[in-house]
Amino acid sequence: MGLSHLIQRSITKKLFSSKPSNILPSSWFLTDTTGKSFYHSGVSNGAKINSFDDTDSLKISKSSYHVSSGGFMRGVVFWEPNKPVTIEEFQMPRPKAGEVLIKTKACGVCHSDLHVIKGEIPFASPCAIGHEITGEVVEHGELTDRKTIERFPVGSRVVGAFIMPCGNCFYCSKGHDDLCEDFFAYNRSKGTLYDGETRLFLRNSGKPVFMYSMGGLAEYCVVPAHGLTILPNSLPYTESAILGCAVFTAYGAMAHAAQVRPGDSVAVIGVGGVGSSCLQIARAFGASDIIAVDVQDEKLQKAKTFGATATINSKIEDPIERIKVCTSSFSF
Ligand SMILES: [Zn+2]
Ligand SMILES: [Zn+2]
Repeated sequence: MGLSHLIQRSITKKLFSSKPSNILPSSWFLTDTTGKSFYHSGVSNGAKINSFDDTDSLKISKSSYHVSSGGFMRGVVFWEPNKPVTIEEFQMPRPKAGEVLIKTKACGVCHSDLHVIKGEIPFASPCAIGHEITGEVVEHGELTDRKTIERFPVGSRVVGAFIMPCGNCFYCSKGHDDLCEDFFAYNRSKGTLYDGETRLFLRNSGKPVFMYSMGGLAEYCVVPAHGLTILPNSLPYTESAILGCAVFTAYGAMAHAAQVRPGDSVAVIGVGGVGSSCLQIARAFGASDIIAVDVQDEKLQKAKTFGATATINSKIEDPIERIKVCTSSFSF
């Protein structure tokens, strides 16, 4: 599906060591689609900066983390709208029953994060942002059931979903995880997990920091197990980070709402993160006419590589008239 072309930007964190950062500092890389780093920060203690090796994300890592309660990690914190986010040190987060501690390997920067930063989505603050993660299982919370531990053994590769279903509420029990009552009542409304508490506390002051989903722009994060799925070895960490947000949103639209079938005509209005995923999924489902509509020529150009058979700049052309022409062989 050309997934490697999907991600436009992601923040990838590469640790110098597989151990928590009380032993060695880590570096942060903002990468482009090629995985080439063009920004890094946060290196301290005069440590040597490792060069970014994109092939690392393809390696199947063996878990060798030694999590101790005295450890700490770093993560990105949003304080208040339109103020720069900062990188802070946290106490090592501890998972509770049914939760998993993840060593974050990659985390996308979603437009929802930007909405929070701009104050366009009201959210409890300070909070750790980032909700499109891939990573490696480090630890299970005490009293976690055996099935969950067997499903996500320590060391397994996982991808997280931004909606982290509780698995128990009215909607979850009916398979409508996307409407999970606890997720919206606790995480989206209060910035906590489902016992009403955050798992994030600043290292020095102990100040609680709320969680936007799992607070994935951090070296480690705690995720309810229902919000995780195994990431196949064939999929790299970095490009797969958006599977649990932009891609599954697009999948829902194409598979369930639109119910795209082979031979269908599909018009996608807006080809950003979700829209460009829609194009690829429509192509994978066998749609014949795949029409991308946007107001930016650059995005429309890229849309062709994602499977668009026609593109419309709606600033220049009437999209309805053009779509009718593009699908003229199709009887409405
Ligand atoms: Zn997102
Ligand atoms: Zn639920």
